[in-house]
Amino acid sequence: MAKQQFKAESKRLLEMMINSIYTQKEIFLRELISNASDAIDKMYYKALTDDKLEFNKEDYFIKIAADKDARTLTITDTGIGMTREELEDNLGVIAKSGSLAFKSENETKDDHTIIGQFGVGFYSAFMVADKVSVVTKAYGAEEAYVWESTGADGYSIEPGEKAAPGTEITLHLKANTEDENYDDYLQEYRLRSLVKKYSDFIRYPIKMDVTRSVPVETPEGEDDAEPKYTEVHEEETVNSMVPIWRKNKSELTDEDYEKFYQEKRYGFDKPLKHLHLKVDGTISYNAILYIPEKTPFDYYTKEYEKGLELYSSGVLIMNKCADLLPDYFSFVKGMVDSEDLSLNISREMLQHDRQLKAIAKNLQNKIKGALQSLLKDEREKYESFYEAFGRQLKFGVYSDYGMNKDVLQDLLLFTSSKEKKPVTLDEYVSRMPEDQKYIYYATGSSVERIEKLPQTELVADKGFEILYLTDDIDEFALKMLMSYKEKEFKNVSAGDLGLDSDEEKKSEEDNQENAELFAEMKTLLAGKVKEVRASKRLKTHPVCLTSEGELSIEMEKVLRAMPNSQNIEADKVLELNVGHEVFQSLKEAAGKDKDKLALYTNLLYNQALLIEGLPVEDPVEFTNAICKIMV
Ligand code: ADP
Ligand code: MG
Repeated sequence: MAKQQFKAESKRLLEMMINSIYTQKEIFLRELISNASDAIDKMYYKALTDDKLEFNKEDYFIKIAADKDARTLTITDTGIGMTREELEDNLGVIAKSGSLAFKSENETKDDHTIIGQFGVGFYSAFMVADKVSVVTKAYGAEEAYVWESTGADGYSIEPGEKAAPGTEITLHLKANTEDENYDDYLQEYRLRSLVKKYSDFIRYPIKMDVTRSVPVETPEGEDDAEPKYTEVHEEETVNSMVPIWRKNKSELTDEDYEKFYQEKRYGFDKPLKHLHLKVDGTISYNAILYIPEKTPFDYYTKEYEKGLELYSSGVLIMNKCADLLPDYFSFVKGMVDSEDLSLNISREMLQHDRQLKAIAKNLQNKIKGALQSLLKDEREKYESFYEAFGRQLKFGVYSDYGMNKDVLQDLLLFTSSKEKKPVTLDEYVSRMPEDQKYIYYATGSSVERIEKLPQTELVADKGFEILYLTDDIDEFALKMLMSYKEKEFKNVSAGDLGLDSDEEKKSEEDNQENAELFAEMKTLLAGKVKEVRASKRLKTHPVCLTSEGELSIEMEKVLRAMPNSQNIEADKVLELNVGHEVFQSLKEAAGKDKDKLALYTNLLYNQALLIEGLPVEDPVEFTNAICKIMV
């Protein structure tokens, strides 16, 4: 039969892998064992719904056998097997091109975790073998098939012989090289230690034929003779089969949790923090949860799927149970095992399951607690967590009409004008001077830009701390919170700053004094600003834009950037610093030269736009105007 070609992208990936980008070749065994275990799991599911099939525990196992003479390693399972079509689909294509694109950008990343990430697990066999043959018979099928491949050049599928359903994978090991002794994978001790290292908790027995030395019974009267040994060959189960979440926390080290995280492909980073929960009560469950260290590359996209693995008494019933996590904690990875859940429950039923809801609620509290203690006791770690996932918490405050703000408000951090580092709302409020009524904030694209905003001048001058909001979601989140510990939030650009200051009184007088000029300017800027007035907040700058009402200029920017946005507009106010020299020029122009007034008004308005990070409406006209006053 003619050789079939792998799909193009599979071929590239295979070549990359075989050409030893991967240093940790030993993980191939873990991959094959976990596939075998998955295949037995599938039999288990089948048995739940198929009356003809009974799941007898003894019949299900994985076996590893090494043949030193033939230099082959065979992994056999009594799982569900594959049909011809399945062989074609599962072993003929490796990874989707999307993940492949990601792969080539990240080749330096820790390699073995990426293999698993994109389901190229099976192909890791080619790291140690130059030929792989798979004999398989699907449950319920009459025929068996043999799939064979020598690597990137393609594969063949032919009818074969196999009595019982299941799969047998034989690796023909590569020839030894100077750097790599592939014979190693034929050694009992080596195989045993790999199983222990990576696959100890696999729920089915992993069996091996082992050789043991046993003392030969000494005949009576020969007590003082040297003890004699003989070799016996027997089958032994190598894995303990106790899942890590059932073990005692005291038995486990940080490395064990890290290993589990990687084994499960929860992420390709290291976990920042883990929680091992053993809950007994009205609901009982074991869970291991992780807060990842890094933002997954697809985290803020539609492709990202939240969820925890869900086990019922040690049997995986769902890969990503979304109902266990609220959206604002969607970054949490891990698993939950509960005896209180029924096994053959459908996805739809599960959604309404009371036990599941109770577990979800419980988990939510535990996660919140863990984040709070991270914030309290390991501030640096918390800040790095917040860098990775803080945006999601802020989304959480904002979404669902603010329903979850009480859970989340104490987990928020914003950069403080005083400390130039992230502070909590509680830290801010607890050091507010007595005469400060509001929590002030300023918005902009970066801390550096906000610091230069003229609007911050007065508040900063009063010695009040300002929160710098640099994320587009920030202000929406604060608007949703409305207040924290009875202190309302106030944008430093807001019409009323609530300062009761001399500046505020004086600006009223200034407004009256210049009413005519401001009215003229307002006409000149018709449709652009709602009001022109004397500023109380400007100290050294001549001009700035502020807004009236609920919608700030920053929010307008965010909303306008969204797809299908309407032309939402903030009510803008042009504020002028009447103490500034520029204002004197403006006044003079107003008295005698209307063209000049129009020119100045336009220039000042455009400057204010630029300061706000908004585009000038007509750049050519703007530069022409500047040239006009230069000559
Ligand atoms: P993944 O396990 O992430 O799906 P793999 O490359 O490890 O990716 O395996 C590809 C697919 O091949 C599996 O999803 C499964 O359908 C099939 N497969 C691999 N090994 C076995 C096996 N021992 N028994 C049955 N099916 C298998
Ligand atoms: Mg796999």
